Amino acid sequence: MVKTQLMKEVAKGLPVVAIDGPAGAGKSAVSKRLTLALGYQLLDTGALYRSIAYLAQKGGIDWQDEQGLAEIAAKLEVDFRLDGEINHLHVGGEDLTELIRSPEISVGASIVSRHPMVRTALLQLQRDLASSGGVVAEGRDVGTVVFPNADAKFFLTASDEVRAQRRYDELISKGVETDFESTLKEMLERDERDTGRELAPLIQAEDAILVDSSNTGVDEVVAQMLAHVRQVEAAL
Ligand code: C5P
Repeated sequence: MVKTQLMKEVAKGLPVVAIDGPAGAGKSAVSKRLTLALGYQLLDTGALYRSIAYLAQKGGIDWQDEQGLAEIAAKLEVDFRLDGEINHLHVGGEDLTELIRSPEISVGASIVSRHPMVRTALLQLQRDLASSGGVVAEGRDVGTVVFPNADAKFFLTASDEVRAQRRYDELISKGVETDFESTLKEMLERDERDTGRELAPLIQAEDAILVDSSNTGVDEVVAQMLAHVRQVEAAL
């Protein structure tokens, strides 16, 4: 049986907020703050693909072995707990919070996420995790495929240079050895895989609000989103 758990049960009738966008757009920082401001749960869908890439590597399963990856996805037991700036993730009891954040696993996640059987397995898991409402879900296809009826949708983006700089700063602050050029190159290759794939490509949902964070700080972006979600809550 697949066991899924977010930190606590949330009353029914609260919105599902979908935030999509490319790597480095600020989704992670914005989603965490918005989730805390709303008192919702955070569903980091990229962390699910990252976990599969990590567990496959650990178990000697190739990132191209769709069947093997789908078996991992079907058995995934995840537990997210948002604590300030850190969204703790336990999978099958193991703390994967940091282990899934390496550049290698970023590449692995974008490779495993192309397989239809993996996406299908994770689709149900994501919907189960958000079934109570009161959830901010962030990823690449949450507003288009996973939650097409989400109550509020945002597409968060920023220029390539700004996104690569953010990713570079983040990796350096974690002690990962890298340089700006390779960070930019890896990011653009990942963008291409995410936008170019046939199934659930990264694309702005027609009814998503476009937010460009190139020249706007996290606080202001969160304030804009929060104001919109409060309006949506009031109308429910
Ligand atoms: O958002 P994050 O960088 O953690 O996502 C890692 C990878 O997982 C993405 O590059 C993408 O290939 C995949 N992903 C996806 N669909 C989502 C979220 C992430 O395909 N909803």
